[in-house]
Amino acid sequence: MTAVVENKEALIERINYLRKKKNAVLLAHFYQRGEIQDIADYVGDSLELARRAQETDADIIVFSGVRFMAETAKILNPTKKVLHPNPESGCPMADMATVEGVLKLKEEHPDAVVVSYINTNADVKTISDVIVTSRNAVKVVKALDAKKIIFVPDQFLGSYIARQVPEKEFILWKGFCPPHFNLTPDQLLALKERYPDAKIAVHPECNTETVKIADFVGSTSQIIEFATTCDSKNVIIGTEIGLKHWLEKLNPDKNYIFPVNADYCGTIHCCDMKKNTLEKIADVLEREINEIVLPEDIIEKAKKPLDKMLEIV
Ligand code: SF4
Repeated sequence: MTAVVENKEALIERINYLRKKKNAVLLAHFYQRGEIQDIADYVGDSLELARRAQETDADIIVFSGVRFMAETAKILNPTKKVLHPNPESGCPMADMATVEGVLKLKEEHPDAVVVSYINTNADVKTISDVIVTSRNAVKVVKALDAKKIIFVPDQFLGSYIARQVPEKEFILWKGFCPPHFNLTPDQLLALKERYPDAKIAVHPECNTETVKIADFVGSTSQIIEFATTCDSKNVIIGTEIGLKHWLEKLNPDKNYIFPVNADYCGTIHCCDMKKNTLEKIADVLEREINEIVLPEDIIEKAKKPLDKMLEIV
């Protein structure tokens, strides 16, 4: 039997029909494929999407991102049905942190508080004191009474925050984001030679040497603001390639240059983010499969540090 391949327009029509019929909302991260960003109800970074997930009155949330993001949507709005287009889309960095390891660090540093990046799995969130995103991490850490911070799981975001908040002591989990980690200063400097007037904007998940040569360091939303409004026409961007689509839509008069990185899927390209497709979104909406299911006690415990973040920011 020959499989029938639906064309893009037909798929979008089916998704639109299903989301209206089922009162569903489609949330998509900036690192999603362009065709998903184009039809999403909201496109955003982790913090914006967490807020949308919490506030929505839709019955179903289809979360096009990686698993910890869909889990966060469920934790913040547990009465909703949260569907994840591709259950295999995890985050390699989130998977680097374990409950056992974090508990051991807590034992070794009883006076420290655990600050976890939102890029952690739900079980690690349950033993965290507060969650942060790359946009609000410095603000949240400064607002805490504690002088000693265990930061999980991204050592590079952690050391970036530590440089902004030198009055506190940091114990860093040694996790990293493979796509961002692989971006080297040399790659950016080679581009700078080709575009001498260009500004360089990078994500703090990049390694420290790369961050140090940037003109601007910020979350995806902050990079968008910088890149679309700075006075240079050429902007070299050190983050995931999915952001190019959004930037070009927002301000097509500029030239957004993304480095090529042969070590990880060809560019700064998150393979897990790209596993979501229009076909998979249509399928989960149609069959209501791949629902995020978390035990009640996990939801309750993981919600506390998320709520604490949302109170501070
Ligand atoms: S870009 Fe990095 S941190 Fe984000 S989902 Fe992919 S591996 Fe995880």
